Amino acid sequence: MNSKLILNPDRDKSVRRLHPWIFSKAVGKVVNPPANGDDIEIYADDGSFLARGSYSPNSQIRSRIWTFDQNEKIDRNFFISRIRKAAERRQTLLEENQLSALRLVDAESDYLPGLIIDKYNEFLVLQVQSAGCEFHLKDITEALKELYPECSIYERSDAAVRTKEGLELRKGVISGSEPPEEITITENGGIKILVNIRDGHKTGYYLDQRDNRRFLERYCRNKKVLNCFSYTGGFCLYALKGKASSVTNVDVSQPALDIAKKNIVLNHLDPGRVRFIREDVFNFLRREKKEGKQYDVIVLDPPKFAESRSQLDRACRGYKDINMTAASLLSPGGYLLTFSCSGHMTPDLFQKVVADAFLDAGRKGSIVQYLHQAEDHPVALPYPEALYLKGLVIRAD
Ligand code: SAH
Repeated sequence: MNSKLILNPDRDKSVRRLHPWIFSKAVGKVVNPPANGDDIEIYADDGSFLARGSYSPNSQIRSRIWTFDQNEKIDRNFFISRIRKAAERRQTLLEENQLSALRLVDAESDYLPGLIIDKYNEFLVLQVQSAGCEFHLKDITEALKELYPECSIYERSDAAVRTKEGLELRKGVISGSEPPEEITITENGGIKILVNIRDGHKTGYYLDQRDNRRFLERYCRNKKVLNCFSYTGGFCLYALKGKASSVTNVDVSQPALDIAKKNIVLNHLDPGRVRFIREDVFNFLRREKKEGKQYDVIVLDPPKFAESRSQLDRACRGYKDINMTAASLLSPGGYLLTFSCSGHMTPDLFQKVVADAFLDAGRKGSIVQYLHQAEDHPVALPYPEALYLKGLVIRAD
């Protein structure tokens, strides 16, 4: 007998609007419960078929939907077809921007809930975030081998979100060769970046900021730039390319700063114009303010301050703190590029927090651009939760 999940009365609306999650509260009954991550058919209370998803009894998200088509089976061919389509959707991006690295599959927004695949040259880096993908891992890797026979597959399933699905953390080679400690990728045509796939953040690099890094370039000619939360120096490279007179990079991670230094040399940029400071950004900004320092362009790209909705208030205080101090460090007519990658922080709320920060700093400012995650991190219309990276370019008036 098939495993079936039957929704409570009136809880079928979101599925009918093609949202890919079934929350535990919506579940009325589970008939013949399958193993963690195995497939389950989803029915409305009136008995009509809605979708086929994965079953995740340990998670608040009880099921993530694979397909709304009753005839579609979840097997190797299913993954071949979905991954191929995701790759096709990125063809223009690839050709126009001469990239050697991109997000090939972005989970729910590519109709493969819980599955991240980033491609760095000939390395496919897989991050499995849901019980359903874990269950079908063999199908997924077989599909990748078929579509990308020239590529090695490395797994970075070491993201904390896995614990919510009752999965342990894991990383290592799935097929092909072990990635070297650093590989060189190219983005936006010419910029080269060293990426540590095995130990770097996320799957090694912040691919989502690609367009915004390029955007920074135009503000930097002869400017004094401060790059907070610099990681491996992505924004710094573009600032130098845009002829910044100096760039100060601040990050707590020494390995990230070490790679940042190498990235400057790799791109034949002038190391004499760059400073690297290993310090907590909150402390650094406060000290600079006390010492009356000024910068013409400031980038604030902090890590996710709100991991859950309950952390949102605290996160707002964190965002306000750094934005307020940064506002007071801006020279007249200077620019602040400020970001939030917390999904729980809405664009409206982020704008309000930044507006409050300027107000409290006694500075006037105008938003001159709204920024967001790059196009290989799309937002599927039925799944607005996929929008997580928001940025504002603010001119100090
Ligand atoms: N701008 C980068 C990505 C930044 S990711 C890019 O374009 O690639 C966030 C960075 O913040 C990480 O490198 C992390 O090491 C650093 N970080 C986290 N908390 C910090 C803190 N309190 N002070 C300084 N750096 C911090």
